[in-house]
Amino acid sequence: PYIIAEPCVDVKDKACIEECPVDCIYEGGRMLYIQPDECVDCGACEPVCPVEAIFYEDDTPDQWSGYINANVDFFDEL
Ligand code: SF4
Repeated sequence: PYIIAEPCVDVKDKACIEECPVDCIYEGGRMLYIQPDECVDCGACEPVCPVEAIFYEDDTPDQWSGYINANVDFFDEL
């Protein structure tokens, strides 16, 4: 799946939510999260993010690799 990383924190622009064809981007306390089991890897959300917070999982910069699990954990805790 695609994931959302640190640039989204305290930004939550939500342009990605408008683009997602399966409505799998959800609002958390300080950022948005992608539901990994629902994401269909279409990539539509990534270019519309104004702060470039969205990455394909395997292309996530090393310093934000923890956000891969953060997106999974957010939904596990719901
Ligand atoms: Fe939604 Fe596509 Fe982005 Fe996955 S890659 S979160 S399906 S817009």
